[in-house]
Amino acid sequence: QPVTTDMATLMNEVQKFAKDKKIEIETLKIREEYRREFLGNVSHELKTPLFTVQGYLLTLLDGAMNDKTIRKKYLQRAEKGVERLIYIVKDLDMITKLETGDLNLEFTEFNIVDVIQNVLDLLEMRADQKNIILMFDRKYTKPVKVFADKERIQQVVTNLVENSIKYGKENGTTEISIEDLVNNKVIIRVTDNGEGIQKQFISRLFERFFRVDKSGARSEGGSGLGLAIVKHIIEAHDERIYVESKIGVGSEFSFTLEKTK
Ligand code: ADP
Repeated sequence: QPVTTDMATLMNEVQKFAKDKKIEIETLKIREEYRREFLGNVSHELKTPLFTVQGYLLTLLDGAMNDKTIRKKYLQRAEKGVERLIYIVKDLDMITKLETGDLNLEFTEFNIVDVIQNVLDLLEMRADQKNIILMFDRKYTKPVKVFADKERIQQVVTNLVENSIKYGKENGTTEISIEDLVNNKVIIRVTDNGEGIQKQFISRLFERFFRVDKSGARSEGGSGLGLAIVKHIIEAHDERIYVESKIGVGSEFSFTLEKTK
C-alpha cells in the first residue's frame, strides 16, 4: 500500500524535523541563558570599582580638591580603581577569547625554569607585603625545556602564584617545584600554607566568577576569572591541572607540560 508507506515516511520526517527544531531551540535557550548570566556577572564585577572611582571623584569635586594631601590620596585611590577595571577587562577579554577558541596558541620550545623565575621576580614585592617567602625548589641546575605557548604558561604560573599570595597567610611560604613524570612530562606545583579550600568548593574553583568567600576575595581585588583562565589554557595545551587542599593546612595547584628532548 504505497499511500500508507508514504504517510508513514512523511510522518517520520515531520517528527524528525520537529525533534531537530526542538533541539535547536533548546540549544539557543541554553546559549541565551549563558549570555545573560555572563553579562550579569560582568556588570556586577565592574560596578564595585566604578562606584569607587566615582565616589572619590565626586568627593574631590565637592571640595576635597582644595586640600593638597587629600587631593593626592583620593586621586591615587581613583587611579587604583581604574587599574582594577583594566585588570578585570583584560581578564574578560582573555576568557572570551579562550571560550570561543579565538586564542591561537603559539607553541615554542623554552626553559620553564626561566619563566618561573621571571614570575617570582615580578611578584616578589607583593609577597613581601605579606611577608610571604617564595621558594623555588628545583633539583635542576640545568634548563628544563618544554614545548608550549610561553606567554600563556607564564600567565598560568602568574595566576597560581598570585593566588598563593592572596590566599596565603602572613609570614607564610609558597613553594614552587618542577618534577619529572613518565612519558616525557613535567609537573609544576605551586604549594601554599594558607587558609585552604573546603572540599565542597574544590570542583567549582575553575568556574568563571566563582569565589569561595565573596567578600574576602573581593577585598583582595581579583576578578574571579583567574582559575577559569588557567584551566582553559592548560586544557588548550591538552594537559592536566590538579588541586589538593586542606582547610588550615594549605593548597597545592599543579599542572603538567610536555618536555622536549
Ligand atoms: P579570584 O582570585 O580573582 O577571586 P580565581 O579564579 O583565581 O579568582 O580563584 C577563585 C577562588 O578560588 C578564589 O576567590 C578563592 O576563593 C579560591 N582560591 C584560589 N586559589 C586559592 C588558594 N591558593 N588558596 C585558597 N583559596 C584559593
